[in-house]
Amino acid sequence: MSLAIDGLPPLREVIAAHGLDPKKSFGQNFLLDLNLTGRIARQALPFGDATIVEVGPGPGGLTRALLANGAQRLVAIEKDRRCIAALGEIAGHYPGRLEIIEADALTVDIARLANRGPVKIVANLPYNVGTQLLLNWLTPRGWPPAWSDLTLMFQREVAERIVAAPGSDAYGRLGVLAGWRTRAAILFDVSREAFTPPPKVTSSVVRLEPLPAPIDVPVAALERVTAAAFGQRRKMLRQSIKGLGGEALLVQAGIDPQRRAETLDIAEFCRLAALL
Ligand code: SAM
Repeated sequence: MSLAIDGLPPLREVIAAHGLDPKKSFGQNFLLDLNLTGRIARQALPFGDATIVEVGPGPGGLTRALLANGAQRLVAIEKDRRCIAALGEIAGHYPGRLEIIEADALTVDIARLANRGPVKIVANLPYNVGTQLLLNWLTPRGWPPAWSDLTLMFQREVAERIVAAPGSDAYGRLGVLAGWRTRAAILFDVSREAFTPPPKVTSSVVRLEPLPAPIDVPVAALERVTAAAFGQRRKMLRQSIKGLGGEALLVQAGIDPQRRAETLDIAEFCRLAALL
């Protein structure tokens, strides 16, 4: 049973009143349990004077939890026009604290939403664009980024790739990019049944914090070398990165050409990227 946290109607009523039948094309798997949305929101505390950015508020379960937990400035970016009126009712309940942007979050520059304090991004991400959104936030122009931390729900398999260590099956491009610039950890899992409709797999909430001084290499070079290396992850590196310099490049970087991509740590990938 959901707790009444704010005097607003239960989410099921909101969904019925506004005709928000979940659409697969928008990656809509809604969380209707306000205890659970509260637990997710609290992972991003303390809010202080931060601008909280929520991507994909949908009917507003997590939005309401963020506001009930004290968010003073919340910017919610939603692509599905049907949700905007429902979110407007929440904004009316919390005057001056919720700004709603109807847009595709892939096109929104988070840095432009920053006000005085830090930016914290909190979201139950649409699975179809979740990885791309994270990659955008990991590769802004310049570092440190405009955000101070990310609290994000992904499919468990994607979460495992984000936090993967060298040598593991889940280790790949995403793990190198996330590990290069952030400290990332899985906080807890959320079962399929918590969502309406239930997705096919378990989800996980991931927390990412920017490293103050990641190894200084161009993003594009690191992306090229990881794409080539993990594109043929079962092959020796001298073969998989042949087009980028192969054996000569590996020797120059002090890396055994017979190794495979998944054995290289992040510093080694950065050494290769720096030589490109
Ligand atoms: N936050 C709500 C919750 O937890 O119940 C909804 C989460 S649902 C997994 C993903 C939300 O992202 C949906 O509301 C969907 O319409 C929205 N969405 C999908 N693609 C989007 C995009 N490119 N930009 C912004 N919002 C998007």
